[in-house]
Amino acid sequence: MSITPQPGIMEIALYQGGQSRLEGHDEVLKLSSNENPYGPSPRAQDALRAAAAGLHLYPSTDHAQLRAAIAEVHDLDAERIICGVGSDEVLQFLAQCYAGPGDEVIHTEHGFAMYPILARAAGATPVMVRERDRVVDVDAILEACTPRTRLIYLTNPGNPTGTMIPVEAVARLADAIPDHVILVLDGAYVEFTEDYDGGARLVEARGNVVMTRTFSKIHGLGGLRIGWGYGPREIIDVLNRVRQPFNLSNAQLTAAEAAIRDTGFTEMCRAETARLRVWMRDKLLGLGLACDESHANYVLVRFKDESEAIACDAMLREEGIIVRRVGGYGFPEGLRITVGDEAGCRRVVGCIARFRGQA
Ligand SMILES: *Cc1c(COP(=O)(O)O)cnc(C)c1O
Repeated sequence: MSITPQPGIMEIALYQGGQSRLEGHDEVLKLSSNENPYGPSPRAQDALRAAAAGLHLYPSTDHAQLRAAIAEVHDLDAERIICGVGSDEVLQFLAQCYAGPGDEVIHTEHGFAMYPILARAAGATPVMVRERDRVVDVDAILEACTPRTRLIYLTNPGNPTGTMIPVEAVARLADAIPDHVILVLDGAYVEFTEDYDGGARLVEARGNVVMTRTFSKIHGLGGLRIGWGYGPREIIDVLNRVRQPFNLSNAQLTAAEAAIRDTGFTEMCRAETARLRVWMRDKLLGLGLACDESHANYVLVRFKDESEAIACDAMLREEGIIVRRVGGYGFPEGLRITVGDEAGCRRVVGCIARFRGQA
């Protein structure tokens, strides 16, 4: 056989999603995929139902209404927005359009597993840069830039660390990278931070920064697959050329619009998550475990070693609770726990306290 896939494809390790079922448990508490414990906005659900009657019609190709809603809510320029099937698709467009064989794509040590996958799918070479004590190291990224670098994927706040670097540090990075490099700011968790716009103003001030955002996390629409990007018009124009004209359905478009316009619901989710992540971290620290301050909707708890993390994970599973092992992200001794609702947080913390013999 001489049928072979393109270079790089066979080096891709399949992405592992968070598990959602446990043998012997009808109802599990799933805290492994950073989903919204309050579900999608009731208005988004209504919009989705209403979309059913129009499913025979093709959706809009330019997403004008959704882009206008995003622009209004976040005070952005609708002309610089592109919408995708999850922010994953926008991240993919960037790799497809700007990286190829011989090119390098930088991601950081504990960054999202999709980055090396997207780089390889484009035929490019992923380059991993160390973080410093679980925080992105701007200088290390700059040192890793070469004439072959095309993209830098940066999650801020980081997943699974929950740590973040200030917008001034992001700006310094954008200023110092070579002019053939695009800085991609993956803002999947920006809504959970305080006083951070995800880099939107940086995008507007420079020609080399793109921000991606998602409806999967705070808007509770992970199952519907909608994300968006914000970048210089020239770059958005390039990305639109590879985007399928009907990449988003009417159902996705109208539900996302209703979700982003329901700012009261978004604010409730943000405030509750911010309150509960502080509560959870305090409890975990009180149990003698290591846990950085999180700016997102999860906490990364670190045990003495991998075997303790495995043992705790096993006990949580017996109790019907699924959290995320993060060995693949460089933390064999860690578990990433999504901040659930109050009952969920109490339940998982109570179980870990029993595991530690402190309940
Ligand atoms: C969840 C997540 C996303 C969002 O992916 P979607 O395709 O929008 O669901 C992007 N980046 C990171 C780091 C994430 O954790």
